[in-house]
Amino acid sequence: MIFRQLFEPESCTYTYLFGCPGTRQAVLLDPVLETAERDLAVLKELGLRLAYTLETHVHADHLTSAGRLKRLTGSKIAYPEMDHLACADVGVAEDKPLSVGSVTLKPLFTPGHTDHHHTYLVDMGAIGAIFTGDALLIDGCGRTDFQSGNAAMLYRSVTEKLFTLPDETLVYPAHDYSNRRVSSVAQERARNPRLGGDKTLDEFTKIMNGLNLAYPKKIDIGVPGNRVCGDYKEGVPEPMRQIHERSVQG
Ligand code: FE
Repeated sequence: MIFRQLFEPESCTYTYLFGCPGTRQAVLLDPVLETAERDLAVLKELGLRLAYTLETHVHADHLTSAGRLKRLTGSKIAYPEMDHLACADVGVAEDKPLSVGSVTLKPLFTPGHTDHHHTYLVDMGAIGAIFTGDALLIDGCGRTDFQSGNAAMLYRSVTEKLFTLPDETLVYPAHDYSNRRVSSVAQERARNPRLGGDKTLDEFTKIMNGLNLAYPKKIDIGVPGNRVCGDYKEGVPEPMRQIHERSVQG
């Protein structure tokens, strides 16, 4: 499998590229509008054709480039089926994996950060890897106080579905704010300060209720914008507006 971990510095988002060496088809997971051109350059360099964009959830902190990449390359837009997005071409669910050639992304329903959030399990050869979106971060987890978030639901998703995977399973999150790139199930199960070390649901809920986080600064654009696959026309501030206008032209 051809694999790249790409980074968008403003929202600290990781976009993941998966390519099949046989069919030369590729999937971009959680692509960001600002880095659409960079991602296309990487695909070109690797000799890959973008077949799908895919999302772990409807993001609040950045706009997806799904719509723009579809216009530029003819790629299909895949989203969790239960989001029922009119702009999506393909719906994924636990019983509906997404494959390109020899590469398969197996959806695991992991609600809690949002109610429709999915993690993707990918066979990397000798070991597996999970692309955890905002369900499980390195030494952290996504917030549960917006977008239909629910701490008890997130606790169950992580402890029952992700922490029960083999120890050596690699953990690739959607964000990291300290340049960490990858972890493992064993490491997070042992030392994640919110969910690891056999934290109880009570302990986790107390931690999440005590975070006192600021209102997410892009949520009012990000959520409606991503529900139209990044093609949001109203109320978009600079510099997002310029990017959007380029996007519509492209
Ligand atoms: Fe999120």
